[in-house]
Amino acid sequence: RAKQDGRGNYRFFEPALDAAARKRRQMELDLRDALANGQLSLDFQPIYSLSNDAISGLEALLRWRHPEQGLISPVEFIPVAEDTGLIQQIGEWVIHEACRQAMTWPGTLRVAVNVSPLQFRNTGLADIIVQALAHSGLPPSRLEIEITESIFLGSTETTLAMLHHLRALGIRIALDDFGTGYSSLSYLRRFPFDKIKIDRSFVTDINLTQSAAAIVHAIVDLARALGMETTAEGVEDEAQLAELRHQGCSSIQGFLLSRPIHADDVVTMVTRQPGTRRAA
Ligand code: C2E
Ligand code: MG
Ligand code: MG
Ligand code: MG
Repeated sequence: RAKQDGRGNYRFFEPALDAAARKRRQMELDLRDALANGQLSLDFQPIYSLSNDAISGLEALLRWRHPEQGLISPVEFIPVAEDTGLIQQIGEWVIHEACRQAMTWPGTLRVAVNVSPLQFRNTGLADIIVQALAHSGLPPSRLEIEITESIFLGSTETTLAMLHHLRALGIRIALDDFGTGYSSLSYLRRFPFDKIKIDRSFVTDINLTQSAAAIVHAIVDLARALGMETTAEGVEDEAQLAELRHQGCSSIQGFLLSRPIHADDVVTMVTRQPGTRRAA
């Protein structure tokens, strides 16, 4: 960080800081245009149920195709959207678009939507979701909201009340990236999540380290005892799948089954159901 040493000798550090700040500022400006100019879209990644060997739903993942820079990762632009408040408009668009897309899918496939903790600061969030369901015609039972543990850093009581409200409407709630954030088991007690998503870091190491295997095992057992499902994130090989099946995990998601795919390819993907996938 650039600092003035009292004699004005700060200029040495300034250019780098300046470049980073400028880049961020430019990203903010560009992001403001992105929604209006149709540069945002959703990809969808299948979630595969191990109990019946079928795709049970898909997670919506936001994509930004920048006119000059090409594809920018949500890991880069979501924090900027959060810092600038743009996450409210973008998040609302994501919810509407995800519901609209899900209505074009066959059967009772669910759509999972990532919702930023900052969207819960908006007391109108439930109304936005209800509107998206009404507008698209999607039954609430086919919508799942994914939140990370950091949601509990803020005003917990308000957040819990909002989550209970959404759940009473029939919407499912999943706890994303479990085990990496500010996990507190007391939240699992105080809030009945429908699902816990086990973070990719544990899944990656499941056959490599005793501790990762033990943690996955504990999460699966705990979830089952609490009446919650589990999805293992980031499953990339058959050995991981075999171990997760063995441990009784409910479902998996990851490159082994499918990378996130373009919205236009979802119907083709789910209708040639890989139900033929052998138990590893
Ligand atoms: P996430 O919700 O945990 O999503 C899973 C991420 O892991 C996705 O990255 C997905 O492409 C990636 N992934 C899935 N399977 C594998 C695998 O087998 N191996 C590896 N290495 N990666 C895998 P993506 O699409 O870059 O999204 C990153 C994060 O950005 C998401 O993590 C989520 O926190 C955030 N995000 C994405 N879309 C939205 C959105 O619409 N709203 C909000 N608020 N956040 C979003
Ligand atoms: Mg997610
Ligand atoms: Mg996740
Ligand atoms: Mg993750």
